[in-house]
Amino acid sequence: MPVKPQPFKICCLKCGFYKVIQFSSDCLRLSDMEQIPEYCPKCGSKELENRKLTKMDKIILRIKYNFTNNPEYLLKDY
Ligand SMILES: [Zn+2]
Repeated sequence: MPVKPQPFKICCLKCGFYKVIQFSSDCLRLSDMEQIPEYCPKCGSKELENRKLTKMDKIILRIKYNFTNNPEYLLKDY
């Protein structure tokens, strides 16, 4: 059985910027991979780290989504 890729976040170790990455389906497409930044968009650092989303992250995202309606904050399987 295919396992749906879990959302995760890319954290910048320098400035604390993070971006949540989630894939649209089981099959990874190029557009999914393009979501993953190579450099921090804020400070340009290459020191990025993949981290699992914590429960707190999910709560924060949900609140952000409620306030902004920005689909970037909407976790599909939450
Ligand atoms: Zn940064």
